[in-house]
Amino acid sequence: MAYDSELKDRGRLARSLSALREMLPGSFIQRDRPCGRPNCRCAKGKQLHTQYQLSVPWEGKPRTFHIPAESAEEVRKKVEMHKSFQEAAAEICEINLRRFLGRKEKKP
Ligand SMILES: [Zn+2]
Repeated sequence: MAYDSELKDRGRLARSLSALREMLPGSFIQRDRPCGRPNCRCAKGKQLHTQYQLSVPWEGKPRTFHIPAESAEEVRKKVEMHKSFQEAAAEICEINLRRFLGRKEKKP
């Protein structure tokens, strides 16, 4: 009985992964900075420029990629998808391990 509901959960989790296939790795970063131009609105420390970045290991090195403002929300969501993917994968692994151990203990 318990196993059946676990399998149901696992199926639901596995199906949820497909909706997350557009996920992106790394950390989404948003920061407000001055641009350095003396005549800009930001020079007085007010109305700073918002920058968006994706920080991610790429080809073996930590890299930071600039994200255009119009893509910021999309990238933020896709990075969130990766977290959901990892959480779902961890739950599936947990169910599988529990089932594997349970099966093993029943053997003589
Ligand atoms: Zn500026």
